[in-house]
Amino acid sequence: MRAFFYNINMKQEQDVIVAKRAGFCPGVKRAIEKVLELEAAGKRPVYTIGPLIHNKQVTDMLCAKQITAIDSPRQAADKSGVLVIRAHGITPQFQQEIESCGMAVVDATCPLVKHAQNIIDKFARQGYHTVIVGDADHAEVVGLMGYTQGNGTVVSGPVEARQLPHFDKVNVVSQTTQKETVFYETAEEVKKHADLCQISNTICQPTKERQKETIEFAQSADLVIVVGGRHSANTARLALLCKELAAAVQHVETEDELDPTQILQAKKIFITAGASTPDWVIDRVAERVRHLRHKQTASEE
Ligand code: SF4
Repeated sequence: MRAFFYNINMKQEQDVIVAKRAGFCPGVKRAIEKVLELEAAGKRPVYTIGPLIHNKQVTDMLCAKQITAIDSPRQAADKSGVLVIRAHGITPQFQQEIESCGMAVVDATCPLVKHAQNIIDKFARQGYHTVIVGDADHAEVVGLMGYTQGNGTVVSGPVEARQLPHFDKVNVVSQTTQKETVFYETAEEVKKHADLCQISNTICQPTKERQKETIEFAQSADLVIVVGGRHSANTARLALLCKELAAAVQHVETEDELDPTQILQAKKIFITAGASTPDWVIDRVAERVRHLRHKQTASEE
């Protein structure tokens, strides 16, 4: 676990804080380690079903090792390769298709996503309608919908939940990276639309801890720097949360996108990152921030 303060000088001690929980979540880390292990063991080529992670720097590194993303087993040019199901998981129907295609399959679905799938499956089999609080286009949510027995709806929040019809029995679950307040506000709204309402908070523990840490540090910072891919949904959500809490927020993919003016003006800076951002990208951003502020301090002395 990361935990460090950059001491620029005695006066500015603890002015730049890097989040303990910045970077890869355990599910993403596990999936990346799995593909790298397979590649190192000579099980080539390695195909992932969809991009393993929405981070250009990691995708480039994987491409260099000929670990490539495909949408379906039919696109695999070399059938002697290995197919890897990514941390987000897939629908059971798609899983069956993959497992019967004749290629070796490694399932790297995050156990915490599996937990959400199992809860949906259990209640759906008992006739519950499933309401998923999340982003309908996100791969994890598409996978979760596959467990609803064709009896599920995705809503992004309480406003959309107001449009729901009445249900006899409903099970409310969340995308694992959902904001906790959004989930509970939505669940309260869904309750009004059902005789029986089961509330299953499936936000994963690493996400809860990341949100808690972000709230604690972002609200006392003058500037928050969120590091992560532009196409990463969890990084975008983290940046949004920070914008509600801090005076200024910079969302950057690499250190080259930092705005030095804000960095020099801010007294307290909090650096955090999405679950798909590798440590070395965060370290480079933190190092650039430290360097810029050190240069300024040196010129003032
Ligand atoms: S965000 Fe949570 S549930 Fe999703 S892959 Fe990471 S650890 Fe697993």
